[in-house]
Amino acid sequence: MSYRADITIIGAGVIGLAIASQVTKEGREVYLLEKNETFGQEQSSRNSEVIHAGIYYERDSLKAKMCLEGNGLLYELCEKNGIAYQKCGKIIVATNHVEAEELEKLYRRGKGNGVQLKMLSLREMDQLEPNIRGVAAFLSPSTGIVDSYALMRCFLGKARDNGAQIVYKTKVIGIEKVLGGYEVRVEEPPGDFSFMTRVLINCAGLYSDKVAEMAGINIDEANYNLHWRKGEYYSVSGGKNKLINRLIYPVPVGINLGVHVCFDINWRLRLGPLFYHVNEISYKVDDSRKKAFLESSIMEALPCIKPSDLDPETSGIMAMLPRERESFRDFIIRHEYDRGLPGLISLVGIESPGLTSSPAIARYVSHLVNEILES
Ligand SMILES: Cc1cc2nc3c(=O)[nH]c(=O)nc-3n(C[C@H](O)[C@H](O)[C@H](O)COP(=O)(O)OP(=O)(O)OC[C@H]3O[C@@H](n4cnc5c(N)ncnc54)[C@H](O)[C@@H]3O)c2cc1C
Repeated sequence: MSYRADITIIGAGVIGLAIASQVTKEGREVYLLEKNETFGQEQSSRNSEVIHAGIYYERDSLKAKMCLEGNGLLYELCEKNGIAYQKCGKIIVATNHVEAEELEKLYRRGKGNGVQLKMLSLREMDQLEPNIRGVAAFLSPSTGIVDSYALMRCFLGKARDNGAQIVYKTKVIGIEKVLGGYEVRVEEPPGDFSFMTRVLINCAGLYSDKVAEMAGINIDEANYNLHWRKGEYYSVSGGKNKLINRLIYPVPVGINLGVHVCFDINWRLRLGPLFYHVNEISYKVDDSRKKAFLESSIMEALPCIKPSDLDPETSGIMAMLPRERESFRDFIIRHEYDRGLPGLISLVGIESPGLTSSPAIARYVSHLVNEILES
């Protein structure tokens, strides 16, 4: 083991790429290690591509702060770098009076988080979206959509321009604390290879709990165990995309945002994601769950969409800290010095709104890195 890096980032999803674009500075040796053949093959390319506004999350939580800051930074980044986006706005709609009470609470939470929102009269709702049905609704003008692939390419380009080395087909299989940093063992066909790094950043997404454990963290005690939830999407055909002008969401039940209207940058319409717990990775969409789709509140809000318009499409798997039916858990982003692991930064449970938060998380982590390297 003779090679020594300053900063090593594990995982080239949107979070690892965003961090790599921020922490690379002149004279720093930065490595981004990715087990797959290329970047962004897991959560970061299998999501709703929504630029969230910051409505849902507990006040003063990292999720609320990172999402709100990320929302502004992301629009700026898209504008400056020619990344396709649309600030199309979204409407959250209640389809009955019980939901209307929850909608009111959500509106107050969003306002409390500093998000610009507008409660709509039924007339305004009808003017904005003549094809939705509901008893109450509010508008979030700062919600939008982004081309997530183009966003990742932008972070990748910036990281490379700043001198970061991106290494694919390289899986981290061992981490040992040594004097002045970490010895990182990687599986790099045809064999294994070890090197030393001063700072190690764990952005391993679905596997970030396992990587934390590899580094010596007791993940049961730290409460870092991840639970995988698969979210399935259905494409909507029949020209229904022309009947809807913005993203439409139901009132959430528990921590799930609920099956909602998604548009990609070409205004292709999908509904999803319908989430359920899984133990293994398979992105096949199980058509037997179509019934649950048809019973979801969004179908009541959108009578223009008929069951025959829906076809199984894609899915994504989310790395969640809460178990099913557990309540809110915040992002974990921390320097692990108090666990006897100085120089190790953990990012665990970076689920939605992780895509939106990526530029803000990168700034936050960059401050932690500067503190470590300048101490
Ligand atoms: C269905 C779904 C819908 C979502 N919708 C939205 C949305 O609309 N808006 C929003 O803001 N967010 C959304 N999200 C959340 C967002 O996609 C994630 O927060 C974000 O992509 C997380 O990025 P990441 O880089 O942490 O993880 P990932 O994209 O999963 O990347 C982690 C990377 O680490 C690599 N890796 C893992 N272990 C190792 C190892 N040992 N060695 C080397 N590499 C390793 C993996 O191969 C992977 O490439 C959604 C997520 C899902 C699943």
